[in-house]
Amino acid sequence: MSFSDLGLSPKVLSAVNDAGYTQPTPIQAGAIPHALQGKDVLGIAQTGTGKTAAFVLPMITRLEKGRARARMPRTLILEPTRELAAQVEENFTRYGKNHKLNIALLIGGVSFDDQERKLERGADVLIATPGRLLDHFERGKLLLTGVEILVIDEADRMLDMGFIPDIERICKLIPFTRQTLFFSATMPPEITKLTEQFLHAPVRIEVAKASSTASTVTQRLVKSGSKPWEKRAVLRQLIREEGESLKNAIIFCNRKVEVSELFRSLVKHDFNAGALHGDMDQRARMTMLSNFRDGKLKLLVASDVAARGLDIPDVSHVFNYDVPIHSEDYVHRIGRTGRAGRSGKSFTIVTRSDTKYLDAIEKLIGQKIEWHDGDLSTLAPSEDEEADRPHRGRGSSRRGSHKDETGKGRKARAEHKAAEAGEAESAAPASERSDRQERKDAIRTGNAARKADEADNAKHSKPRRTGRSTQSDDDGDKVTVGFGDDVPAFMKIPAKV
Ligand code: AMP
Repeated sequence: MSFSDLGLSPKVLSAVNDAGYTQPTPIQAGAIPHALQGKDVLGIAQTGTGKTAAFVLPMITRLEKGRARARMPRTLILEPTRELAAQVEENFTRYGKNHKLNIALLIGGVSFDDQERKLERGADVLIATPGRLLDHFERGKLLLTGVEILVIDEADRMLDMGFIPDIERICKLIPFTRQTLFFSATMPPEITKLTEQFLHAPVRIEVAKASSTASTVTQRLVKSGSKPWEKRAVLRQLIREEGESLKNAIIFCNRKVEVSELFRSLVKHDFNAGALHGDMDQRARMTMLSNFRDGKLKLLVASDVAARGLDIPDVSHVFNYDVPIHSEDYVHRIGRTGRAGRSGKSFTIVTRSDTKYLDAIEKLIGQKIEWHDGDLSTLAPSEDEEADRPHRGRGSSRRGSHKDETGKGRKARAEHKAAEAGEAESAAPASERSDRQERKDAIRTGNAARKADEADNAKHSKPRRTGRSTQSDDDGDKVTVGFGDDVPAFMKIPAKV
């Protein structure tokens, strides 16, 4: 089947041709003819399947007749994130190059004024995130009674982000006679309910099971201790191992704070990395994304919300720094690589506390994922477990940050560093040694590890200027200890006991 069989207008076909696409993807072949006939469509498709063009192309064809009026957009596309909205706008620009379409983008994080001016001019296409759309509506700058076509994209993501009440409200503001094109990668019960409420006799097109991962992606699990510094070391090791084959990669974290921490750590270790999370302002997000797309950034550390659905073609690797808590996120994350028939690789870093989530993922995708280098049973006991054992003798077994670790905790960290520095032999099992010997060893391995860190630091990072006494932190960076060399004089006066 070719694009010319679908009923698109000659102007749209010419733009598609110029974009270099010769054959419609299954979601395009399935949805476009029905959308052109004005039918409601329920498309169950993930990003990467060409679903954006599946609604953009018929919309442009249908918009050829008629004109927009001030403050009364003719079509409305709802997107869960600003990046997705901006991406859809790019699609309209690309495929609508032979049309004079007025496109308005209503997204948060940018000023209302420009957006209002565009609405005032009359929008053929209004692309919006639900919150900003309702803000404009409440300010009286927008009437939705002229909307002929409504698109709800990434509906399951909207659900995850708590947008369903907003969507319901928006749907009720648009005439009943509109056409609705509805897309979701998965169909949880809340989404099914929404489609029953707002779609009229939709044509259902399902292109791939939402729970399936592309066969072009080689998936691997990688064991790690649960401490952030252990996970970061595992990640760095993996990136280095992949060498030249790693063209570019997205590294997913579960939380924004981890995105920031990991990003800073990678940069300190001289990796060419950027970050993408929901708290960054719009301009920073767009710059980061376009730098990654253009190949100026090799690694992009991202949260699910920020990265969902982004059109970043040709990503060679996906790293899950954290196992996703929602198993469906795994499918979405992995879907960032191995696109359009290319091969891709994914590595998921797994700690002992992740097994529950891993089981859910393997159940969802219906397959066991191979371990890269032995499973969790081959992982050396971590300091947590050491601490959890009934303690013999002195010291407390409390968990916590390494600042208040026990001698054993410190030793485990020192051993880890020594192992990283290629000195694993000197870090023999704790149980074989007396406490005194352990303490001596901890100091020795700690010193060795610190020296190695400093050497690594000199190699990888820019030197930091500090007049205070320092030691290395988890990532081999200098941190000031206490007051360093700047201890105030009054603190040096001997205390009376
Ligand atoms: P989407 O699923 O809409 O995010 O699209 C994923 C990628 O597929 C985008 O980079 C599109 O430009 C590309 N694409 C869309 N339609 C086609 C097509 N018919 N043939 C090849 N690539 C396409």
